[in-house]
Amino acid sequence: MATQFTSTAGTQLKSFVGLRQSSLQTTSSTSLRPRSRRITSFQIRASRSSPKVPGRPLRVAIVGGGPAGGAAAETLARGGVETFLIERKLDNAKPCGGAIPLCMVDEFDIPMDIIDRKVTKMKMISPSNVAVDIGRTLKPHEYIGMVRREVLDEHLREKAKSLGATVINGLFLKMDKPKDNVSPYVLHYNHYDGSKGAGMGVPRTLQVDAVIGADGANSRVAKSIDAGDYEYAIAFQERVKIPSNKMVYYEDLAEMYVGQDVSPDFYGWVFPKCDHVAVGTGTVTHKKDIKKFQNATRLRAKDKIEGGKIIRVEAHPIPEHPRPRRVLDRVALVGDAAGYVTKCSGEGIYFAAKSGRMCAEAIVQGSENGKRLVDESDLRVYLAKFDKAYWPTYKVLDVLQKVFYRSDPAREAFVEMCADEYVQKMTFDSYLYKKVVPGNPLDDIKLAFNTIGSLVRANAMRREMAKLAD
Ligand SMILES: Cc1cc2nc3c(=O)[nH]c(=O)nc-3n(C[C@H](O)[C@H](O)[C@H](O)COP(=O)(O)OP(=O)(O)OC[C@H]3O[C@@H](n4cnc5c(N)ncnc54)[C@H](O)[C@@H]3O)c2cc1C
Repeated sequence: MATQFTSTAGTQLKSFVGLRQSSLQTTSSTSLRPRSRRITSFQIRASRSSPKVPGRPLRVAIVGGGPAGGAAAETLARGGVETFLIERKLDNAKPCGGAIPLCMVDEFDIPMDIIDRKVTKMKMISPSNVAVDIGRTLKPHEYIGMVRREVLDEHLREKAKSLGATVINGLFLKMDKPKDNVSPYVLHYNHYDGSKGAGMGVPRTLQVDAVIGADGANSRVAKSIDAGDYEYAIAFQERVKIPSNKMVYYEDLAEMYVGQDVSPDFYGWVFPKCDHVAVGTGTVTHKKDIKKFQNATRLRAKDKIEGGKIIRVEAHPIPEHPRPRRVLDRVALVGDAAGYVTKCSGEGIYFAAKSGRMCAEAIVQGSENGKRLVDESDLRVYLAKFDKAYWPTYKVLDVLQKVFYRSDPAREAFVEMCADEYVQKMTFDSYLYKKVVPGNPLDDIKLAFNTIGSLVRANAMRREMAKLAD
């Protein structure tokens, strides 16, 4: 994966803000639309003047059946669009910590029986192993959901199927672009029919009016539209089956470890699942050392996971910022394919599902429930809404990572700060409900002083450590 974009947080933030501009500037499409501010009126005119689909509903293909694809398929099928979802592996267990916020459970109607654990206690553990409990402000009904991805993804796909979406077990290979703005896209894929000897699958094609790329970090749909690359982290995870007496400790508790040993720019985690824990870490800057960081994470949690058996080892890229282009003509990217994982927390499931849904809503609306063709201006409505809703969240987490993940003294300061009830409330409210919560001015001032105090102490500590090292 090329890394043509700088990895400094500030630049990435600028690129997030500027994406709407830059994708417009850099794209070679002739059907470019003005910036989001003017899109609303364009969208109405485009929809009204766009041709009716003759004798059938609008036909849309979604490539990828993870949270982004499943959520998009559900919304399209509900909205009267003929929906095809192409997934290469229907029992795919995406490497993932599987932590989801409470608002996702509500908004996506996630049934309780697919949530392995309800985490109400989160321990943040500093480089010197000072542990702070950061779930103290949670209300009785609040929790972080822990799911296994093979279970969540299947649930979302099945829901879409029950609403009329056609789920195809196939590997998407490439697509032929339409020769004009009414002709179909032709998708080429290998179809797996499950029969013996099917092997590589049977080559097939599918003609559709629009395409949603929900095919994750290595998206082929993104390549098909020259969407450009993003900087990425590599995340590594082991599922460890620990003795049941040790599992009791993790019943409703998760751990986050920070420190240069577990990651120079991310955190290590132990997340509880039904009968095992997921132990992992990630890094952007030192990818070749990922196994060393994983060993360090395991070592830090040693007392609690000792005697455990590793039952699965998994690794996958995590995008660091959105791609330069996310929409072109009648093709849109969502989820990891678009690059929607937050810094600092590495969270992407909710944003994948949400972007899939928002993109599908824009198509349903633009096509007047599948009656008319859509064009790029319809898809840009999704970009404008997504950016408006979530840009502050990305920005805050980016700044937090920049300030607090830069040295062990800064990480000590971060953990110290997490002991503050106000910080906990703000953090959890923002995480659980996906809104950057406006604070109480007096508490904000107190927090600012405490933060400065912690950082000053951290810097003083760093200077002393540097002197010792000389
Ligand atoms: C180790 C690790 C831990 C993480 N932990 C968390 C966490 O705890 N919480 C959180 O919110 N986020 C976490 N994330 C991020 C999260 O996993 C992603 O943001 C999320 O999976 C994105 O969903 P998606 O639907 O966009 O893509 P994916 O989940 O990657 O789904 C893409 C789907 O497309 C399919 N596909 C790909 N190519 C093709 C093709 N050519 N043809 C057909 N199908 C194809 C794949 O099989 C897959 O099912 C973690 C990531 C990693 C790597």
